[in-house]
Amino acid sequence: MKLMRLGAPGKEIPAVRTGDDTVYGLSDLTSDIDGAFLAAEGIDRIREALASDSLPVLDTEGLRVGAPIARPGKIVCIGLNYSDHAEETGAAVPARPVVFMKDPATVVGAYDQVLIPRGSGRTDWEVELAVVIGRQARYLASPEDTASVIAGYAISNDVSEREFQLDFSPQWDLGKSCETFNPLGPWLVTADEVTDPQALGLRLSVNGEPRQDGNTKNMIFDVAYVVWYLSQYMVLNPGDVINTGTPAGVALGLPDAPYLRPGDRVELSIDGLGRQSQTFAQA
Ligand code: ZN
Repeated sequence: MKLMRLGAPGKEIPAVRTGDDTVYGLSDLTSDIDGAFLAAEGIDRIREALASDSLPVLDTEGLRVGAPIARPGKIVCIGLNYSDHAEETGAAVPARPVVFMKDPATVVGAYDQVLIPRGSGRTDWEVELAVVIGRQARYLASPEDTASVIAGYAISNDVSEREFQLDFSPQWDLGKSCETFNPLGPWLVTADEVTDPQALGLRLSVNGEPRQDGNTKNMIFDVAYVVWYLSQYMVLNPGDVINTGTPAGVALGLPDAPYLRPGDRVELSIDGLGRQSQTFAQA
C-alpha cells in the first residue's frame, strides 16, 4: 500500500493508493497519517478496511500531494553512507555511521517549491531512501530485529547548503535545516511492498541532466544496521524518519560545482517509491 496525504499544506486528507492505482480516503479511520496512527496499528487497520471494502474512493483531481507523514518527531540523517559519495567529498569512509539531525519542520511535499536560503551560493541536492519508523525502537538486540519497527519507505531529498554545513560550523546542522529543505514522498510505501530495501535504484536529475544514479546495495551501513545502531543511542518513535544517505553525484563532488539556482528543476526517483520534482526559488 502507498499512504498519501492530499490537500493544501496543513489541511491534508489521509489516503491510501492500492495496487490498481485507486485512491481511497482514510478520514473515517484517522484524522491524519502520523506517529500516533502508525503506533495504533494504523497500517493493519487500513488493510482490514480495504479487505472489507469500507473505504470511499477519493477524487484526487487538483489536490496537492503533501508529505506522506505528518509532523515527524525527528529526522535522523546518516552522512557519507555510500563509498562513492564519501570519495567525491574527499571524506574518509566512516568506521561508524555519521549521524546528524535535521529539523522535522523542513518537510514539504514531493512537488512543492524548495527555497534557496538568503545568502546561499551552494545549495545542493541529495536523493535518499527514507525509512519511516512504525513501532518504538530502543536498544534493539540485533539488526535482524529491525524489520518489525519499520513502517515503510519513501523518497527523501536531503537538500543541503554546503557553505552553511561545512564552513560556518563544525556541526552540519546549519546547512541541513533551512526552510523547505526536506521534500518527502509522494508516498509512504509500506514495508511489505519493498521486497529488498538494499536493491533499489535511486536517481536524480537537474534540469533534465542526470546527476545521481546509485543503488542502495552500495550503502556502507544497510537499513537494518542503521536502525539497530541508532536504537542503541536514541529512542526511535513511530513517525520518525531516517534519511539513509546519498550516493555520488551531488554538486559538491562535481568538477564544475553546479549548485542550484532559482528556477532550477530537480527530479528524483527510487525504484517502487515513485517520483518527485521540485522547482527551486529564492527565499
Ligand atoms: Zn544526506
